[in-house]
Parts: sequence; C-alpha cells; structure tokens
Amino acid sequence: MVVDEPSLKTDNQFKLLGLSDPIVKAIDELGYTEPTPIQAQAIPEILKGHDVLGVAQTGTGKTASFTLPLLEKLSGSRARARMPRSLILEPTRELALQVAENFQLYGKHLRLTHALLIGGESMIEQKEVLNKGVDVLIATPGRLLDLFGRGGLLLSQTGLLVIDEADRMLDMGFIPDIEKIINLLPPHKQTLFFSATMAPEIRKLADTFLKFPIEITVARPSSVATTIEEAYLIVEEDNKKRTLRKLLKQQDVQSAIVFCNRKRDVDMVQRYLSKYSIPVGHLHGDLTQSLRFSTLERFKSGELKILVCSDVAARGIDIGGLSHVFNFDLPFSAEDYVHRIGRTGRAGKQGHAFSLAGPKDRRLLEAIEKLIGKEIQKIEPAEIETVEWQSEEEKSNKSHSSNPNSTRHKEEIKPSSENENYRAKRNRNNKRSNIPSRHGAEDSGEINPPMPQQTQDYSHFQSVELASPFEKEGSRMGFEGDTPAFMLVPRRRKKISSVAQEDQSPHPVQHDGRHYNDK
Ligand code: AMP
Repeated sequence: MVVDEPSLKTDNQFKLLGLSDPIVKAIDELGYTEPTPIQAQAIPEILKGHDVLGVAQTGTGKTASFTLPLLEKLSGSRARARMPRSLILEPTRELALQVAENFQLYGKHLRLTHALLIGGESMIEQKEVLNKGVDVLIATPGRLLDLFGRGGLLLSQTGLLVIDEADRMLDMGFIPDIEKIINLLPPHKQTLFFSATMAPEIRKLADTFLKFPIEITVARPSSVATTIEEAYLIVEEDNKKRTLRKLLKQQDVQSAIVFCNRKRDVDMVQRYLSKYSIPVGHLHGDLTQSLRFSTLERFKSGELKILVCSDVAARGIDIGGLSHVFNFDLPFSAEDYVHRIGRTGRAGKQGHAFSLAGPKDRRLLEAIEKLIGKEIQKIEPAEIETVEWQSEEEKSNKSHSSNPNSTRHKEEIKPSSENENYRAKRNRNNKRSNIPSRHGAEDSGEINPPMPQQTQDYSHFQSVELASPFEKEGSRMGFEGDTPAFMLVPRRRKKISSVAQEDQSPHPVQHDGRHYNDK
C-alpha cells in the first residue's frame, strides 16, 4: 500500500531497525535521524511479532516506538469493512488525538487509514468510516465498547492491540473495560503494553494481558537536557509582567510556553500580553474543554506563538520542541521545573528557559539547583529592572512592620493551627472525591502551594491566595492535564453496563485520517 515509491538514499538510523523506505522517508522528513532508546529496542521486537511491555513515559519517543512498526506490519494488506486490523487504546481524548497525528505524519507515504473513536463528533461520519474499513482504530475504552454494543464494530480481525498509558487507565478505572475489550479480540494477537510506571498492579495486568513479552524499560528524563540554556532573574512581583514582555521582545522566540503557578495569573498574563498584540493563548483547568482544545490546535499550528499554562493543564499534552520556556513563577516543586523546561531543547535543538524569581523565592531556586545538580545562571538583562534576594532580616522586618490591623494580613498569614484545619478540610474533601490520586505531590503543584510549616517564612504566602483544593483541575482526579472522555459531554441517564466511567453520550465519534489528507 505504498502511495509513492521513493528510492531512499539515506543514512538515517531508522533504516537499520527494519522499517521500509516509505516510513523511513516520512521520519527523515520530520528530521528524526536517530531512534530514541525505546524506539531502538522496541521496533525490532514488535516487527518480529513479540508482545512488548514498555516502561516509558511521554517524552521518550514512546509513541513512535509502537506506531512505526504498526504501520510497517499493516502496510502489506487491506482493511475490511467494520473490522479494524489494529486497535490502540488511550485513556484520554487528547492522547488519542496525538496518536492519530503521529499516524498521519509517519504514514504519509502509505495508503493506510486510521480512525478515531472518541467524544465530540458525529455518529454518522464514524459509522461511514468504519463501514469502509480501517487499518488502525484509536479509541478510548468506553467509547469503543459503546459502539461495539450498538453493532457498529467487529473486533474479530484485530490482530494487534496497543494499551497505552496503562497506569493512567488504572487510575481512571478503565481496566474492567479493557478486560472486556480483550475478550472481544482474537486469542492469537500481538499485544503491546506501555506504562510510565511499573507498580505491582500494573505488573499484574501485564502478566494477564501479555504472552512472553519482551520487557523494555527506559529511564525517566530526571535531568535537564544539555541543549537547554537556563537562566533566572530576580524581579519584583509587580514587575514580572513587564519583564516577561521585555524578554519576549529581546529573545528570538519562535514558540514558547509561559508557566504560572496560579490559574488567576494564567488569565492575567494572557490578557496582558494580548493587549500588546502578542499572539497568545492560555490553558488551565477552569477553561472549557472546547476552548482548551482549540487553543492547543492554534498553538500547534503556529497561529499562537505563546501559550500561558498551569502545570496541570500542560501535563500529558505533547507540546515539545519549543524555542523557549518562561517560568513566570518558580514552581513550588523542583520536579515541576524539570518537567516545565523539558518542553524546550528537544531532539538536539537548542532551547532556552528563563525563570522569573521573586525576591522571596531564594529557597525555591535552591531546591531546583539541588535537584538538577548545578547552578542556574543569574542574569540582569538590559532594560530590565532586577533586584536582589530579600535577606532573612528584611523578610522578618517586613512581616513585623506590616499593619497589624490589616484584615488581609490577618486572613492570609495562616497560623499553624489554621493550616491544620485547612489540611483536615483538604483531607475530608479528598475522601469525598472517592477517587484515589496517585499524584498527591503533583496535585499540590498548582493550586495548593506547600503548606507552610511553623518554622517557615509565611511572608512569602501573604500574597498567595490559598485556592480551594478542589478547583476544577484534572489532577485531583488523577487525570493530570487531560480531560478524560467521560467528562467531555453530558452523561446519559440510562446506564450502559459495558461502559464503566467514560463518556456515555449516544454519539460516539470518529475522525478519518483521510480527511486530514484531503486538506
Ligand atoms: P513521545 O514520547 O511519543 O510523546 O514523543 C515525544 C516527542 O519526541 C514527540 O514530539 C516526537 O515527535 C518526538 N520524537 C519521537 N521520536 C523522535 C526521534 N527519534 N528523534 C527526535 N524526536 C523524536
């Protein structure tokens, strides 16, 4: 099923993995010359027909490690009506869309079709596409079972199954659905199972789903890529907006994310930059899913140059390869710093990361430097008014000299007993949510700054409004930045026994890869 027959003369390393010319050509055109470790190990094994257990997280090139050999294996024959030849299960709509984009990119010289089965579009279109037959079906579990239940789909010819992000599937309660799906597939199939972690429950699932798998583990990117040039500057809190604008002007910014610790700052920075006609969008958990989705698309297409984000909203979304990352605030957790700036300097390209520290943020910077094992360069760019760290003495003087009658002061500096109340309230609310979160620490990243201890300096928190621990961010549900499909459209009242937690709208949806190509 080759569209064109390129005679490929390249020393692209992907050729050595056993991939054919049309696929290597597509990779070459994307500028990938060397496989990442997970790709180098997984691709030959998948091509040989082995089950694979991949322990790798987003950012390691994991998606191509299964999409490339899948394309290779499927390129020999044709799809039949309503019988997808391969199935990729993703926990969220966003991830499913990303995988579909990957198929489109890597499969551009092949005539394979893919379809998406996720929330949000027309049932008629979806049925039409499936009726013609698709090579690759990318779906969220509940949607798939929903359509299956309506007779729109047969899985008896699906010889290749990918379960991606298994740990998130577990968090989101999708495992029973996956078990049902596996029972609908033929017993002789190849299964590829990917998870960012290998907790005991995940290991148990892998043992159930896989036959003699080849296990491949790649290290988490725990350190910052060496291609990232990092710097910080200390500026007064109320000077941060202006500083950011000046930095954007001074730097050769192609595309950038600006990370803020608080959602209200995400809104504020976005409004401020738009006033200066900067093409900027914003993402955080309180914005509607459709707005988040269209903003992401506009950013990916280059229409928006700057994206102002909360940590939680950015997580799980593949926006990498940026020229710059700006930290409007130093993150409360040092790990978040590594995640944030890892969005730039990918694939050997030079990236730049600038952090705006407030005068009271010295400890946050020190924690980051300790984690990454090096000092970050302090800069004082021209035309930007920088200051020095506030000394401990200054801090305590300032907090003592504050007006003791000020209500704001009284309300916002929380004595430890109030912190205990706050913590107890948070715990109560957590219980009420009834959904365990693996990401306790991450949850606190944006909406709940770490609770100040008695010995800590509270002055830093004076201006920090402790937001309700249950603001509408995905993280508290364990979904990180992605909105699971079941949250996207209203639930149907009637319960469908086959669908555990996902979107139960009567209109499952599908995209057809061919629509993209027709553009
Ligand atoms: P993933 O881990 O699948 O989310 O991929 C992370 C990013 O790396 C994506 O933006 C890919 O396009 C990119 N990528 C994947 N493989 C390679 C490679 N071999 N060389 C350079 N970039 C890659």
